Amino acid sequence: MAANIQAVRGMHDVLPDQTPLWQYAERIIREVLSSYGYSEIRLPIVEKTELFKRSIGEVTDIVEKEMYTFDDRNGDSLTLRPEGTAGCLRACLEHGLLHHQTHRLWYYGPMYRHERPQKGRYRQFIQLGVETYGMSGPDIDAELILLMHRLWQKLGIRDKVSLQLNSLGTIAERMVYREVLVFYFQQHKESLDEDSLRRLNTNPLRILDSKNPEMKDVIANAPELIAYLGADSLAHFKAITTTLEDLGVTYQINTRLVRGLDYYSKTVFEWVTDELGSQGTVCAGGRYDGLIEQLGGKPNHAVGFAMGMERLLALLELRDDLPITKPVDAYMIRVGEKAEREGLRFAETIRNEFPTLKLQLSADGGSFKNQFKKADKVGAEFAIILGDDEVDRGEVGIKSLRNELAQQTMPQSQAISFLQQQLQINR
Ligand code: ATP
Ligand code: MG
Repeated sequence: MAANIQAVRGMHDVLPDQTPLWQYAERIIREVLSSYGYSEIRLPIVEKTELFKRSIGEVTDIVEKEMYTFDDRNGDSLTLRPEGTAGCLRACLEHGLLHHQTHRLWYYGPMYRHERPQKGRYRQFIQLGVETYGMSGPDIDAELILLMHRLWQKLGIRDKVSLQLNSLGTIAERMVYREVLVFYFQQHKESLDEDSLRRLNTNPLRILDSKNPEMKDVIANAPELIAYLGADSLAHFKAITTTLEDLGVTYQINTRLVRGLDYYSKTVFEWVTDELGSQGTVCAGGRYDGLIEQLGGKPNHAVGFAMGMERLLALLELRDDLPITKPVDAYMIRVGEKAEREGLRFAETIRNEFPTLKLQLSADGGSFKNQFKKADKVGAEFAIILGDDEVDRGEVGIKSLRNELAQQTMPQSQAISFLQQQLQINR
């Protein structure tokens, strides 16, 4: 026998018993986004490799070692998107959406990074991305944070995440800070690991982002970027924190928060959790005005974030009161030739009159006993029972599978309103 083929390492199936939780989260996400007037944009999963090199930056983990890059049959270098910001901006530039306009957009779908798979870190993972364009003031930065704050609340996990904020200032402010930082780390070269020594010349700010515990002290004592911010950057940052305070959204300023990507300026933020081990960042983003010009657009403004759905789902699973409904409310048992024919017709009538009922029809026959077992197995609350006798009398049996009440027999016409009455609590 041939060996079974398995999924690619780090790429996971979502099985039917897990999809209700995904659908629940996706529904709430859509509701919240729509309550802020955001529109969905759908983007290709594959883009030209150049797009990511130019936007994410050559000296980042993603471009250096995580991308799934391949030549297509024409010899063009293509890449499975490792994130959505670049593609979203590419699309908006390509279709002229950034010309004297503002946009509030979201997308949802798989991203690909060749990382070492572990809990909360996969090679295919799903992100919700939210991007806004054309707005320079701090209110849009704050809006994105408020939107997430609302989402956590609606999902019942607000107490499991906390908000970390920082400002990276302008590119010019960062250049000055960069020199100060390089000078500092050069004085402490012996405390840097190999990755950080390399970054000292290429991307020194990323050293602050290192997760190596042995570098904790040298990072903690490094000069802080916030001391090098100009008045405009500070005012922008202050306006955000004031808004959050006004609305009772707690936050911590984390001066070490630099984010992995080169394109951020001013605001950066992360929603982090202690509940998921070392994969603690669930949602991350910030302002990236500079990226638009980097991709060939006119000077403009952009703020956005991305949330990892697998990490969100892991947090949701910690809730013990998940509002998940079973996939089947009622199961129709049919025994006998007439019952099979009439049952099929009756099932369609039920679906006409009670469209929200999740009704599953028996298939492949079997005895009453055998079909009751199937009804129980799919988790139905009610069995709708049809034998040839019931059909002759225009009746139907209804039995609750979740309590000991006896089976009732009633005219078919009554059965639908009976089920509506019994199940309306769930609707
Ligand atoms: P990390 O520091 O955990 O590697 P990152 O800075 O690379 O995260 P971003 O590029 O900002 O992550 O992506 C935003 C979010 O997407 C992360 O906060 C996380 O929730 C999720 N994410 C990123 N990479 C993965 C992955 N390999 N598997 C699962 N989720 C991921
Ligand atoms: Mg990463």
